[in-house]
Amino acid sequence: MEKKELIYEGKAKKVYAMDDPDYCMVEYKDDATAFNGLKKGTIRGKGVVNNKMSNFMFKLLAEKGIETHFVKEISDRETIVKKVSIVPLEVIIRNKAAGSLAKKLGLEEGMELKCPILEFSYKNDELGDPMINNSQAIACGIATQEEIDVISDMAYKVNDYMKEFFAGVGVELIDFKLEFGKFHDKIILADEISPDTCRFWDIKTHEKLDKDRFRRDMGGVEEAYAEMMKRIGLA
Ligand code: UDP
Repeated sequence: MEKKELIYEGKAKKVYAMDDPDYCMVEYKDDATAFNGLKKGTIRGKGVVNNKMSNFMFKLLAEKGIETHFVKEISDRETIVKKVSIVPLEVIIRNKAAGSLAKKLGLEEGMELKCPILEFSYKNDELGDPMINNSQAIACGIATQEEIDVISDMAYKVNDYMKEFFAGVGVELIDFKLEFGKFHDKIILADEISPDTCRFWDIKTHEKLDKDRFRRDMGGVEEAYAEMMKRIGLA
C-alpha cells in the first residue's frame, strides 16, 4: 500500500489517504492543545508515545474481541488504520471524579463513584464539544439508538479491560475518551488511547501521568509520558 495526499490535519495528528480507499495513514505529532485549542504547546516525544501506546492498547483490546481500526504500525509515529467515518460523539468513561465532572458538580478530584459514568459530547470544535444525552443525539440525527447501544456496550467493555490492565502496571485509570467509527456499516473503535485521552494516576502516590500535567502547567510532562511507556513495557 502506498501513502497519498494529506486529507486532514488536526491538533495532534495528520491523516493521509492511501491508494486503497479502505485505509489511511495516521501520523502522530508532538503538538499539544488544551481547553478547545486555547492553550498550545509541544510535548517532545508525545507523538511516538501516543502512536505506540494506542497501537499496543488496540492490539490488547482486539485479543478481547473489541474490533478496532488498527492495521499496522509503519514507524515510530505512523500507523495504517481502517478508514472509518467517525461517529461525531466523544465517548467518555469515568471511574473516579476528575476534570470537568469534578468542576461541574463541586466534587473532590479522585472521589469514588458508585459505578462508572458514561457521557457523550457532540464532536464540534466551534461549539466546544458540548455534552449531550442519548435522547438529544438520537433526535438530532447524530447517532441512532442502535449505534448508541453498540457504542455504550463496547465502551464499558473497553473500560473493564483497560482498568484491569493498567491496575496490573500500578496505574489507576481515572477516566478516558473514546471515538468510534463506521467501517462498511460496522461500528469499530477508532482514534487513539494515550495519555492525551486518558487520566492515569499512579496507584500508590496518585501522581498524575497524563496530559493534565500540560493542561495545569505542572511540569514533568515529557517524563510522565515516558513513565507510561515504561509501565506498559514499551520503553
Ligand atoms: N478528553 C479528551 N478530549 C477531549 C475532552 C476530554 O481526550 O476533548 C479526555 C480527558 O483527557 C479525560 C476524559 O476525556 O481523560 C474526561 O475529560 P473531562 O470531561 O474531565 O474534560 P477536561 O477536564 O479534560 O476538559
